Amino acid sequence: IWALNNPMRMAGWLINDVQRFVASAEKVEELLNTKPEIKNETKRYNVKHLKGVVEFEQVSFSYGDEPVLNDINFKIRQGQTVGIIGPTGAGKSTLVNLLSRFYDASKGEVRVDGLNVRDWDIHKLRNSMATVMQDIFLFSDTIEGNIAYGNPNASFEAVQAAAKMAEADGFISKLPEGYDTIIGERGVGLSGGQRQRIALARAILKNPSILILDDTTSALDMETELRIQKTLKSLLKEKTCFIIAHRISSVKDADLILVMENGTIIERGNHKELLAKKGSYYKVFNNQVGNFDGMHDLEEVNYLN
Ligand code: ADP
Repeated sequence: IWALNNPMRMAGWLINDVQRFVASAEKVEELLNTKPEIKNETKRYNVKHLKGVVEFEQVSFSYGDEPVLNDINFKIRQGQTVGIIGPTGAGKSTLVNLLSRFYDASKGEVRVDGLNVRDWDIHKLRNSMATVMQDIFLFSDTIEGNIAYGNPNASFEAVQAAAKMAEADGFISKLPEGYDTIIGERGVGLSGGQRQRIALARAILKNPSILILDDTTSALDMETELRIQKTLKSLLKEKTCFIIAHRISSVKDADLILVMENGTIIERGNHKELLAKKGSYYKVFNNQVGNFDGMHDLEEVNYLN
């Protein structure tokens, strides 16, 4: 029942069904863009690309009676990275879902480039964003087709370059049929980490103004995650990025880190500021370093002493 309320999960199911009948990517796109209660108002503009300035002002949201987000306020400039960290159920995914308008805020305003997201053409808005989610769906198609999804005119070279940046080229090239390998439901099985890297390559190829990584690197080992982060950093210079994560190591370089709990932002700042507060973030940091689950960055450890 929960899944029925979740449009993204629904879309996943629908795609599986639809694919039994049509193999048309356009049909899938149509489905992904269908969300009856979201109205598309087209007030603006002949803007080609969004810049990626994002602002939440007094935003609250509930799926039903239960409030899930409560008075969320923050603003980020083009090219900045926001890390969002907090326990499961804190509202992290819901927050970014309001940005891509999978839902609309119950109160307050979510603005992109100064305009309420409700007033953007929804296709323009979504085409300017790429989201890599925890639950990745891959289409029953070749690896190349999966990476190029949404970018059917991309050259093979561009697909491969994106795969390289996502640290996926290595394992793809080792497959007997390489980029022509059929994956997805009826194809070759891939590990969680491999699926995440394919999804990341797809997002990179889309070249979005706003990149949303929702717990994207959780299935990757630390080493791969760090390598990907390095690549992403140069790639993302002018792009606005949201990184939702459990590991402090994933968000520590963000310009702004939001620590969420129970639908509210309980702490905010950059890594150093948050450590200096000796609050919730600091506790999690100590815990993760202590468990060797976080990072092993000597400088940071010294910082604590
Ligand atoms: P997080 O990303 O921090 O784990 P979520 O944003 O996924 O948190 O969820 C916040 C709260 O909203 C949780 O209590 C969750 O159960 C609830 N929730 C999430 N999605 C839905 C939905 N589609 N329908 C009803 N409740 C939902």
